Amino acid sequence: SSGSDENDVVVVGGGPGGYVAAIKAAQLGLKTTCIEKRGALGGTCLNVGCIPSKALLHSSHMYHEALHSFANHGVKFPSVEVDLPAMMGQKDKAVANLTRGIEGLFKKNKVNYVKGYGKFISPSEVSVDGPEGGNTVVKGKSIIIATGSDVKSLPGITIDEKRIVSSTGALALTEIPKKLVVIGAGYIGLEMGSVWCRLGSEVTVVEFAPEIVPTMDGEVRKQFQRALEKQKMKFMLKTKVVSVDTSGDVVKLTLEPAAGGEQSTLEADVVLVSAGRIPFTAGLGLDKIGVETDKVGRITVNERFATNVPGVFAIGDVIPGPMLAHKAEEDGVACVEFIAGREGHVDYDMIPGVVYTHPEVASVGKTEEQVKTLGVDYRVGKFPFMASSRAKAIDDAEGIVKIVAEKETDKILGVHIMAPNAGELIHEAVLALQYGASSEDIARTCHAHPTMSEALKEAAMATYDKPIHI
Ligand code: FAD
Repeated sequence: SSGSDENDVVVVGGGPGGYVAAIKAAQLGLKTTCIEKRGALGGTCLNVGCIPSKALLHSSHMYHEALHSFANHGVKFPSVEVDLPAMMGQKDKAVANLTRGIEGLFKKNKVNYVKGYGKFISPSEVSVDGPEGGNTVVKGKSIIIATGSDVKSLPGITIDEKRIVSSTGALALTEIPKKLVVIGAGYIGLEMGSVWCRLGSEVTVVEFAPEIVPTMDGEVRKQFQRALEKQKMKFMLKTKVVSVDTSGDVVKLTLEPAAGGEQSTLEADVVLVSAGRIPFTAGLGLDKIGVETDKVGRITVNERFATNVPGVFAIGDVIPGPMLAHKAEEDGVACVEFIAGREGHVDYDMIPGVVYTHPEVASVGKTEEQVKTLGVDYRVGKFPFMASSRAKAIDDAEGIVKIVAEKETDKILGVHIMAPNAGELIHEAVLALQYGASSEDIARTCHAHPTMSEALKEAAMATYDKPIHI
């Protein structure tokens, strides 16, 4: 099938926003083409984001456990070592299998896949420069922009992906750096920092803001930082990187307090720049068709994901909202439902966020600070994993569940979990928020014993009444 036939829907970008939109569109009976320049489907998330980082987080966690925890459980080895090429190989294999899996899903759902760089020549035509030269024009009644995001660079710091790396380079280092400096204490910096810290690097995280992961509930954030410090990660908060000198054998960073003051230096073998991500629309020709963007380059859309240009839509990291894969997927499905004449809905207040360190931190809804700012009377219920029988049984009890509920109605406003498996535990809370549940609703729901999930039930009991186990 050729991309030049008229499509109902053309999707530019094959990341979690774009490929999910394309599959959903085809499932709704729309003739669909997806254009991707990378040579592989899955976008940032699958190729250089969520998936490879989780692979390395798991592998490095196993090594760390073997070194520091197995003996406590009576499991002994004469010695434990890291085979970095094998570790990277397992990550690459997972990525390769999954990208091929999406190609299979495209075939199954009859989505036409065009490889190459797409650019608008009109609101209903995208010209695609193929990877081996050649050009096709793909026409569509509706076009969805799902071009995602890219690493945000810092002024004066050139990323070479060897010694000065973005997350992409940090996922493919060929040696374990002795000293790793991470610029930016967002979730990506902390996850990648954790990987290399566990594998033996001395990791220092430099952050301009007074705290790590700014979106996190303050109380949970404090415990989280302490947990990472126990794993020997160092933090320099309220600190600015003034310059990075790569002329010598080691990289020299010049630092300065965020508020100004005396400079200091820091040495590193590798520097990871993880100061955020920016929407990616380079070479797409948005100005040619007049698609509006905001101050930071995000495409402006209405609640139906429509841009200001009729027939052109946008989803995922390239529009406002949390820059997360599952948010991009939700956008993609809802956008296509609108195009197909149905109703779709994404509530950005109910998108869970997870930091996949150990312990993990997961949250949904509002932090205590946000609830305070809203002036709502509220109650807080907490339960520490130190009091969870399952957490004690497995000797992995660092963490807490914290629930914030409206005082008058007991309606849950936010749930924050730090625990080994917080990213899985959070979904009970997401469902509760989605259905407008009260803390009593969770507390009166039977939870299997012994599970980590019981901590959520106990925290719910602590919100409107009293917990049993503490
Ligand atoms: P992208 O995934 O960026 O996909 C856009 C695609 O469009 C790309 O493949 C690009 O090549 C293609 N493209 C761009 N322009 C064109 C063009 N003109 N023509 C053709 N193709 C084009 N999120 C989570 O939810 N959980 C995580 O654990 C997580 N971990 C992450 C870890 C790292 C290290 C990073 C960097 C990100 C992580 N993210 C995570 C964020 C997640 O990757 C993004 O939110 C998600 O990929 C956004 O999806 P998207 O479809 O909008 O864009």
